[in-house]
Parts: sequence; C-alpha cells; structure tokens
Amino acid sequence: MVKDDVDPRRSALMSRIRSSGTAPELAVRRMLHANGLRFRLHRKDLPGRPDIVLPRHRLVIFIHGCFWHQHSDCRLASKPKTRPDYWQPKLAGNVERDARNTSALQALGWRVETIWECDTRKEHLLRARIDGIVSSLNGSPLPVTPQG
Ligand SMILES: [Zn+2]
Repeated sequence: MVKDDVDPRRSALMSRIRSSGTAPELAVRRMLHANGLRFRLHRKDLPGRPDIVLPRHRLVIFIHGCFWHQHSDCRLASKPKTRPDYWQPKLAGNVERDARNTSALQALGWRVETIWECDTRKEHLLRARIDGIVSSLNGSPLPVTPQG
C-alpha cells in the first residue's frame, strides 16, 4: 500500500507542533521566566521529549494540544466526525504514549506536570496553573548555600 494520504493541512499543523515555539508553549515559557525559573527546552534524552525541563526541581512540563492529546471533557478535544477509522487509533495511540512517557519519567525520578492548551488561552487560567506549580516548588526548596 502506498502511503500518500497525507492531508497537507494536517502536515502543516504537525510541523507547527514539532517546531519549538507554539503559542501555548511561548505563553508558558514567558510566565515561568516572569517567576524567575530557569528551564531547558525539549530535552531529547528524556522520554517524550518534554517541552520544558526544570532540572533543579526535577520537574518536567508538557504543554499538550487538547485535540492531539485528547484532553478529557474539553471542548477543544472533540473527535473529528470524518474518517473515524483513521483518527480513533491515532489519537488513542497519542494518549497511550503520553501515559507511557509519564510512567517512564516518574520511574526516573521526575515529577510530571501537564499544561493543557485550553489553559494557556486565558491569562488568568494559565497564571493560576503556573502559580500552582511555582508554589509546589517553593514548598520543597532545595538547600540554599549561605553566602560567604
Ligand atoms: Zn483542553
């Protein structure tokens, strides 16, 4: 069978997702920066290539598109009505892979947070989400070496 059924709209979407600067990602990064957090992007040596990695805090953050990662009970995650035979296994596969990556990361000692696209669309929702993450970090501060 020849694999030539790539929908150009879909591949454009995919390449945008692969690139390292989707709007939701940029919004999250900006807010983390504003909180003075240092992080790295898309570490290839970690399962699932997490979007944001905070090595000091042993924390990874995935910024997930609600559709591609099937955010439950989210209106952005509605299944396409056309070609269910194509979409169902594909989307189910994404969800499965996410679960696998999360387990693998946790097994390596990482805490895993997921920020959903829909939360990044509203400033106050995103702020609440980031505040939650930041305060969880402050709740278990790393030892600070006194100066001098
Ligand atoms: Zn969502």
